Parts: sequence; structure tokens; C-alpha cells
Amino acid sequence: MKLRCTKCERKYPTESFIQRCEICNEPLELELLKGEIREGKTVWERYRDFYPFELGIEYSLGEGETPLTKVQKLSEELEVELYIKNETLNPTWSFKDRGTFVGIHRALKSGSRRIGTVSTGNMAASVASYGQRFGLETYILVSSSIPEEKLLPIAVYGPKLIKVFGDYGELYFRSLEIGRRNGIYFINSDDPFRIEGYKTISFEIAEIFVPDYVLIPTSSGGLFRGILKGFLELKESRIIREIPTLICVQARGCSPIYRAFIEGKDKIVRFKNPNTIAHAIENPYPPSGNDVLRKLRKYRGLCIAVSDGEILNAQRELAKEGIFVQPASAVGIAALKKLRGGKGISKGERVVSIITGSGLKFLGALGGKLDIQECTLEMLNECIGL
Ligand SMILES: *Cc1c(COP(=O)(O)O)cnc(C)c1O
Ligand SMILES: [Zn+2]
Repeated sequence: MKLRCTKCERKYPTESFIQRCEICNEPLELELLKGEIREGKTVWERYRDFYPFELGIEYSLGEGETPLTKVQKLSEELEVELYIKNETLNPTWSFKDRGTFVGIHRALKSGSRRIGTVSTGNMAASVASYGQRFGLETYILVSSSIPEEKLLPIAVYGPKLIKVFGDYGELYFRSLEIGRRNGIYFINSDDPFRIEGYKTISFEIAEIFVPDYVLIPTSSGGLFRGILKGFLELKESRIIREIPTLICVQARGCSPIYRAFIEGKDKIVRFKNPNTIAHAIENPYPPSGNDVLRKLRKYRGLCIAVSDGEILNAQRELAKEGIFVQPASAVGIAALKKLRGGKGISKGERVVSIITGSGLKFLGALGGKLDIQECTLEMLNECIGL
């Protein structure tokens, strides 16, 4: 089993500390794995054929096995069969846990006792949690735009936590350099083994059905690549016949992949002055951006951007269905509304939107606009008003 450059296909050993191609600086990826679904309680056990190494299940915090839930009101309104893959139910409340769990195995395989990550919040909390769990020295670099309330659920695990001012896109590349010098394995957004963890989202969806479309909130491009790889491996293994159409969704206020896609370019350009409420997908220079573009073309995916207004609206609509998501996780629903309105998704099709992270992580996004009444004990009857 080798790592392969996603662009020039040059091969690298899996044990190496190399995270990007030495020739084209594009991300590496494990070759496609094939297998059968085995007996087992957890997704890691059932899909063990799809991992070239044994996973230390005893370190699992129960990531994955999240529900695929039908969203009734929006299904009726939009005349599609809409499901959400509810990743808010992971141990640190985002899908990042799936990737962190597998990513740490690579760190351990490379002999590293030091790990780290560069994050806008969710991945930081995830790596900090699993770093403790595995007993590793953990270095967390977060962007300066991170809301204060998101720092606490990272700091609580006690990692070395540093808030870095400067270009967030650049911080990724800087961390790889620092990691090489100091023997810190940075399990960043599109680390090849992190992506191996994200594959399990596709495995779990396909165990129920293969949808026509999957909506994927996209920042670095790691999640998009993981979901695609999962479906491709199932197809190669003849477990499913066709892969769904994948839809890369970005926030308009930071949409470098979308820009390049509609302009027909094959390289992303750094997005100037990113500004969106969806902080978790605010990477102005996504390290897997070019690869997402290549894969969108190769597998006929779609790409769309949505505004902050549309995002907040979608967040409220999901709350009406009983599901509280953070803004970055609402972009899929916002995109679906546009795609139903114009060209794109037809009536009656089956759509899965990945709900990437919990709304509790970022209460500030609600901005005090909620309807709350006050009343004395004596006035309570009048206040209830029945
Ligand atoms: C990380 C993250 C994303 C985007 O994932 P990428 O792999 O960086 O594309 C989307 N939503 C949430 C909530 C996230 O934490
Ligand atoms: Zn290459």
C-alpha cells in the first residue's frame, strides 16, 4: 500500500513523514482499497478490509455510527427526499473525530509521540481530545478569527494551545515545516490518513441507501475527498453500483474553490478578505482545493456558494426540524434550496446533507435574535395566554 500524489501519481511510502508531493506540492492520498463488509459492531470493524493497518479500537471514543435522519418539513417544501447525516453526535460534536482517530494511527506508525493540528475550532477540539486519550504531546494552532467560546472546548483537554494572528491558509504550510523540524505530526485538514477516517461517512450512508446527491460543506477539501474515496472504494468493491453526485458547498464570503470552478480554472487563487459567519469553512487557500477541482470535473460533481443570509436562514429551518447546527453545517440546506429553484436537483430525488458540527459550538451565531419572554410567577397564567 502506497501513498500517491493526487496530481502526478508519484508514489511515497506510507510510513514517511511526507504529507504533500515533493514535485507538485499537491496532497497525497492512499491508493484505493477494496474489500468486503465484515461482521462487527463498529464501522471500523465492519470495514476493516478498507484499512491497510489495524485500528486501535480500544482508543475509540465511539466516533461515527451517526444517524441518517429524514428531514420531513424541508422534504415536503422542496419536493425531494432529504436526509441529514447528523455528525453533531460525534464525541467532540463534529465529524473531525472520525479523521482524528485514524490520523493518530499514522502519527504512531511514524514513531511520533507529538501531534498537532491547525484549525478554526472543531478539528482543534478533536485532536486535543484524542491526543489526551492516546497520551500524546499535543500542539494546537488556531486561527485568530476563532470565536472566544470555541476556545474553551479545546483548552479543557489541556493541549499546548496557540492562537495565531496572520493568514490562516499560510499557517497550514508553516505547520508542516515546523512539524518536520520538531517531530510533531500535524494531522491537518487534508492529511491522507484523516481522509481515511472520513470514508466511514460514506460507508454508513451506503449501508442504508445510495443517494442521488450528497451536499458537502467544504473548506480545506478534506471531507469532500474522504466522502468521495469512500464511495469509490465501495464501487470498486462492487458493494454499490454507482456513486452519488457530490456537491461541494462553500460560503460565498470565502469561496475560492467555487470561484475557480465557475471560471473553469484548474487552480484555486487565494481568496482575499474572507468574511463569513461560517467560520468552520473559512479557509482562504484550501490545501486540497486544486484536488477538489480535479475530482469535481472527473466525477461530474457540482459546486455552489451560499450567502451568510441564506446560511442563517437554513440554520433556523433546521432548528424547526429539531436539529441545531453551526452555520458551516447549514450550507448544504441553503445550497439545496438554490439547486431546487434553478437547475440542478430534480423533484423526488434522494439527497443527503452532511451536518458537520453542532450548533452549541457557536452560540454567538444566533446573535440574540431569539424569541424569549419574561414573566413573574403571579402573571404566569396571563403570560401563557391560553
Ligand atoms: C472542518 C469542517 C468543515 C469542512 O471540512 P474540510 O475538510 O476542511 O473541507 C465543515 N464544517 C465543519 C463544521 C467543520 O468543522
Ligand atoms: Zn505530484
